[in-house]
Amino acid sequence: MLIAKDDLHSALKKYFGFSKFKGLQEDVVGSILSGNHTFVIMPTGGGKSLCYQLPALMQEGTAIVVSPLIALMKNQVDAIRGVSNEEGVAHVLNSSLNKTEVKRVKEDITNGITKLLYVAPESLTKDENVDFLKTVKVSFMAIDEAHCISEWGHDFRPEYRNLRHIIGRIGENIPIIGLTATATPKVQEDIIKNLGISGAKTFKASFNRPNLYYEVRPKTKDVDADIIRFVKQNEGKSGIVYCLSRKRVEELAQVLQVNGVKAVPYHAGLDAKTRSSHQDMFLMEDIDVVVATIAFGMGIDKPDVRFVIHHDIPKSIESYYQETGRAGRDGGEGHCLAFYAYKDIEKLEKFMSGKPVAEQEIGHALLQEVVAFAETSISRRKFILHYFGEEFDTKTGEGGDMDDNVRHPKKKHEAKDDVVI
Ligand code: ADP
Ligand code: MG
Repeated sequence: MLIAKDDLHSALKKYFGFSKFKGLQEDVVGSILSGNHTFVIMPTGGGKSLCYQLPALMQEGTAIVVSPLIALMKNQVDAIRGVSNEEGVAHVLNSSLNKTEVKRVKEDITNGITKLLYVAPESLTKDENVDFLKTVKVSFMAIDEAHCISEWGHDFRPEYRNLRHIIGRIGENIPIIGLTATATPKVQEDIIKNLGISGAKTFKASFNRPNLYYEVRPKTKDVDADIIRFVKQNEGKSGIVYCLSRKRVEELAQVLQVNGVKAVPYHAGLDAKTRSSHQDMFLMEDIDVVVATIAFGMGIDKPDVRFVIHHDIPKSIESYYQETGRAGRDGGEGHCLAFYAYKDIEKLEKFMSGKPVAEQEIGHALLQEVVAFAETSISRRKFILHYFGEEFDTKTGEGGDMDDNVRHPKKKHEAKDDVVI
């Protein structure tokens, strides 16, 4: 399908009310409309959804969107319905629907009303759904959060590995669109291989976050005092402090409170009501600091988080990037401060010891990268971007002086061996 530039812009305006495409969106949309297998790698918040939603709305047939989280699917369907007059334009197909609802969804698809059908991988595997989808016109298949395919990703889902097979059963020559915010070359290779889209047009946005300042400090027994001092110096600003264990989260939140900081804990051991009230307090700025395990953050979109502190170093560079990425979404200041002690790495290694050998090996390799990052004396930004397969020049690149190693180079005798990258 060949579409003029003007038509793409008027469609963007008509369906979403936006006057400009963000980053690579326009090229991605063009690639999908041309019927290519397409692979999109953009950081969180980059605007991946629109990349497949717009071509789906513009084309005949139904685009099938595979997404791992029911809550995310619901949000997206509501948003699409909001921009269209036709409620049937987007549907979810999952186990929560009753017979009448399923019938309605299928009718809308058959009648060509539904442009976007969101499914969880588990629902797509069901024979009755495959048999139905075989009989309708599918414009393309979009696999959102495609890193779930890879064991090297941070959210591996075995069901995702079956998708290629299922797509083949639904129809031959269906264009496949993979989308992810995971930038590591290993995960990308896995995705392309597993989806069988080696010829896919690939679009990769830069992962550089020039407004984030990266700093790693040695972790001593005074780490709590260090954190209190930092938070006090940033009084009134919003921040997140990540800890590995729930116990530490509770303790540190209390220590901060005792020291006059408006802080609350957040972890999966708290009941749902407390969790959502603590989250709301953070969003509404009734409190300044959330002390949390990694349970906090998915889908939290507070634009003015001014600092992210890691009381414990994360288990991969990927996690570190995702977690620090919650700072400075608005483009303003974002200080990322991690405390590092090698014995924490040993602790993380120990946690994995009960796991299958293959998983341990992957976990170990990911941790070694974290060690290299924490101990390096080169630009941290350069290190992170290199890890994501991106070259970065600290002299010319945006944000080139925004880390401790560049601002305060270690003296020769202090510096550990440079990691060669
Ligand atoms: P991702 O899936 O890459 O994390 P989303 O698709 O959720 O990102 O989009 C992030 C935000 O960007 C959303 O609020 C969306 O409305 C907004 N957005 C996407 N495209 C545009 C655009 N062209 N102009 C303005 N805002 C956009
Ligand atoms: Mg997304």
